[in-house]
Amino acid sequence: MPATAAAPAPVNPLTVLSPLPYHYPQFDKFKDEDFMPAFEIGMKEGRAEIDRIANNPEAPSFDNTIVAMERSGQTLARVSAIFFNLTGANTNDTLDKIEADISPRLSAYNDAINLDPKLYARVKTLYDGRAQLGLDAESARLLERYTINFVRAGAQLSDADKKQLTEYNEQLAKLTTQFQQNVLKESNDSAVLVDTREELDGLDEGAVAAAAEAAKAKGHEGKFLITLQNTTGQPAETDLKNRALRERIYKASVERANRGNDADNKPVVASIVLVRAKRAELLGYPSHAAYQLEDSTAKTTAAVNKLLDQLAPPAVANARREAADMQKLIDRQKGAQNGAFKLAAWDWAYYAEAVRKQRYNLDEAQIKPYFELDSVLQNGVFYAAHELYGLSFTERSDLPKYHPDIRSFEVFKDGVPLGIFIFDPFKRDSKRGGAWMNSYIDQSELFGYQAVVANHLNIPKPSAGEPVLLTSDEVQTMFHEFGHAMHGLFSNVKYPLFSGTNVPRDFVEYPSQANEMWATWPKVLANYAKHYKTGAPMPLSLVQKIKSAEKFNQGFGTTEYLAATLLDQAWHQLSAEQAAKITDVAAFEKDALAKAGVDYAPVPPRYRTTYFSHAFSGGYSAGYYSYIWSEVLVADTDDWFKEKGGLKRENGDWYREHLLSKGGSIEAMDLYRDFRGRDPVIGPLLERRGLTAPVAKKK
Ligand SMILES: [Zn+2]
Repeated sequence: MPATAAAPAPVNPLTVLSPLPYHYPQFDKFKDEDFMPAFEIGMKEGRAEIDRIANNPEAPSFDNTIVAMERSGQTLARVSAIFFNLTGANTNDTLDKIEADISPRLSAYNDAINLDPKLYARVKTLYDGRAQLGLDAESARLLERYTINFVRAGAQLSDADKKQLTEYNEQLAKLTTQFQQNVLKESNDSAVLVDTREELDGLDEGAVAAAAEAAKAKGHEGKFLITLQNTTGQPAETDLKNRALRERIYKASVERANRGNDADNKPVVASIVLVRAKRAELLGYPSHAAYQLEDSTAKTTAAVNKLLDQLAPPAVANARREAADMQKLIDRQKGAQNGAFKLAAWDWAYYAEAVRKQRYNLDEAQIKPYFELDSVLQNGVFYAAHELYGLSFTERSDLPKYHPDIRSFEVFKDGVPLGIFIFDPFKRDSKRGGAWMNSYIDQSELFGYQAVVANHLNIPKPSAGEPVLLTSDEVQTMFHEFGHAMHGLFSNVKYPLFSGTNVPRDFVEYPSQANEMWATWPKVLANYAKHYKTGAPMPLSLVQKIKSAEKFNQGFGTTEYLAATLLDQAWHQLSAEQAAKITDVAAFEKDALAKAGVDYAPVPPRYRTTYFSHAFSGGYSAGYYSYIWSEVLVADTDDWFKEKGGLKRENGDWYREHLLSKGGSIEAMDLYRDFRGRDPVIGPLLERRGLTAPVAKKK
């Protein structure tokens, strides 16, 4: 560009607080190229703010040190929130490249703060004299959390160890970014191309049309492309009659990032596991899991192992019983002469569906027409939130979008503005798999901010003009993610560190799973489950069939989940010495599943190692157990709501006041006791997972 004299440098739109309502991001004002300069500005600004705190000649006070740190780094926090949400929800090569560059630099930036001796000395002085500070409860907890966070981040290490720690963190930032980018690339590249319509026999018209369009978009007009979800199991396996194609899809799924090409994650995993174990050792822990769990509600690997040991045998026993039912069906249908075969992993979904049809006279095809996306959202998810908490929603089409498919809603509680909810439902190549919630703006009294949160799902987008009809799983996921969203929206805390979902990882999946119960609550179901063509409510007989089939296939669901959980623990409970000896990632996986008693071939882990993002790139390393750990609270909470009469405003208000609005401002289990009036009990979980039957001990 020619230099025109004295033109003021344009302000990078990412570095300013958005003037839009609730400081909603100005998605239409920045370009990909703005991120790197914005990160530079944010880090420079943040570092200067921290230096002022560390070098303050005044004696440390709660305000000039702890609160000042809470206030620092705002620009960087804002840029990061937008950037990392986009790399998850709508990435491209430019953003991927920036992410690979910036992740290790951010890691170093954070280490420089966490390991700053002058800063830590001020925090420690305050903490040691905390009894004299006269702090309110939330402020006292903030001081305590800062102290714990500094220590856990290595503030007490020697200079040489600090240097080593910083190197480990940078390596991990690079490795985990690479892991995630490999998973996305491999999931896209492993989509299964099918030549003929005949092979798709069993798939509904909508799915066939979507497969035809996906193929066309990749230059294979006239063929069909089955795209992959991030889990091991793939939705098409439920419907496809062609066994060979089911097998192809299954193999494509489990071989992701395990194919010996550039995007193979085996060496990446081996390095991640080793560096994490070494880092834990440096910090004084026997393993990465021990380090992670110390700061959770579970506290120790022993506590987690105990729960998993209790659940795995009955879950696998249930799965074996379910398999026996399916095998009977296969044998009856095929007969020994007509090619009867032994049930394999790629047959499970298909025959489970067949048994379900037979036993409960129920199949997904009957249900789907009643689960139209917009009705589920507005008359289901939003409706339940209205009945329980007084929420209402107004769509804000005026707010900018980062992708045409997203929708934004202003949220009101009893008519009073509460925040913004962004809804991003569809699968696309630029989006990572799975479903998640994220926050763009965290609520806090300190800044006077209300929440701007988003839910992301991976619902296959039908061809233009077709209705978006959901499976029961997708409906459940929508309620789940909105539970996270409400945890963010209802947050009513003073400090950003405690806002919304900033709670221990094994507690964060509790409010989300607790919200799932409303998906099948009769009054809610009646309100949203209406036929997309006729508007007729779901027939009562169908509702009853769904209810009675609720525990169906739980053996499979629990086993595939536990297998992944045990795998996550096995990798992360290794000492540095043990991790250094791992040369064969696949063999370790096989062995770990066998040792845990979940090596049952028809039920593979929900994620295998090479595409297990929760464990190797998301924030759930040694933490995938969190779902079942918090499900103990969930099942106990379901009982509470039922005892109190269910979907009632007074119940919602109690739950919101005592738990949802508190974020991390109070110890998680204290919150639970405050809400429930006692400690949680495990009985309701065993009951709903069908795990109460005794299991014969194998010798
Ligand atoms: Zn969740």
